[in-house]
Amino acid sequence: MIYFDYNATAPVMREAREAWLNVTEHIGGNPSSMHQFGAKAAIALADARERLAAHLGCHPLDLIWTSGATEANNMVMHHFARKLGPTGQVWLSAIEHPCVFDSAQHYFGKRARLIPITREGVVDVDWITAELADTQPGLVAVMAANNETGVIQPWREVAAICRQYRVPFFTDAVQFIGKVPAKGLGECDYVTGAGHKFGGPRGVGFLKVPNRQSITPLLLGGKQEGGRRAGTENVAIIAAFAAALEVREKQMARSEHVLRGVWRDNFERELLRALPEASIVGAKQPRLWNTVSAVMPDGDRKLQWVIRLDKAGFAVSTGSACTTGKEEPSHVLSAMGIKSAQAVRSVRFSAGWETNENDWSALLKALVKIHADLPGKG
Ligand code: PLP
Repeated sequence: MIYFDYNATAPVMREAREAWLNVTEHIGGNPSSMHQFGAKAAIALADARERLAAHLGCHPLDLIWTSGATEANNMVMHHFARKLGPTGQVWLSAIEHPCVFDSAQHYFGKRARLIPITREGVVDVDWITAELADTQPGLVAVMAANNETGVIQPWREVAAICRQYRVPFFTDAVQFIGKVPAKGLGECDYVTGAGHKFGGPRGVGFLKVPNRQSITPLLLGGKQEGGRRAGTENVAIIAAFAAALEVREKQMARSEHVLRGVWRDNFERELLRALPEASIVGAKQPRLWNTVSAVMPDGDRKLQWVIRLDKAGFAVSTGSACTTGKEEPSHVLSAMGIKSAQAVRSVRFSAGWETNENDWSALLKALVKIHADLPGKG
């Protein structure tokens, strides 16, 4: 089986497993305890925090460890709902992950306004510039890179415009971190991420807040994480997150992601040559090097492609994991103005650091064969 669903989750790398085992076997204390066992755990926790802070370019105490990005994203919306009160408004891009979208809907209802998206899958910066000159919401949320299309969003530009109007800026950087260098992320007010998209374990994420600030906690009942998130920290899993990040940092420093982008580009070129009726979503935009969102030729729907590929030995996806199993067109492609007749034929191939050139070639061959074997095509 060849795995092409890294945007859903990535295999846990050896270094992360070893870090987890090391802490589990040798560091048994609670980081909040006053004795030596506690001190050892607190040091391991602080080390991981410092590594992530250095990666993002922020202060270690700006960081709050969470159970994942869903929790972190919910914390942001919960905090702003409390802070802004019953008339507060938030703006969010129309392609945010459901855990941002649904929590914004939950807390703000109609006061959550969607920022339009261009046909190429990029948030409309001109819209933001024009609208901000007129009204300022309590928060602007634009993700760093989209999980379905891989299109990298102009978050640096949006952050700068928000700064000009003193509007807090929040970016969900889950798909960005550990794949491309994070330079500048630490300057955004609120940033979230998760370990399991880049080789760390599932069930660990973080929220970065501005200037060590407090935040209205979602979980109450303890003073952990500076009173911002109650509950004993899972030190082993947090250490594994930091170990995985360190490995990815080294690979990025050697520009290993650039070559992987070339393999992906070659795959896309060959796919379009073999199946000229197919198209690539957001093809002209800067995208994550690992993601291909392809609208497949007429003849079969996306779930059928996923099932046929699964039988042929390839794990792929219809889009984000949270919409898997649904035949509805994704909200991301709809926001881009892609008609539902096309959107229901979209398949996502997301590679990882372990994917090699041969894996891409094998996937291409399988797609061409499946297409040729479709009823009425052979
Ligand atoms: N945000 C984005 C962009 C994602 O892709 C995901 C996971 O699919 C999440 C948030 C949720 O992350 P987690 O699985 O850590 O809760």
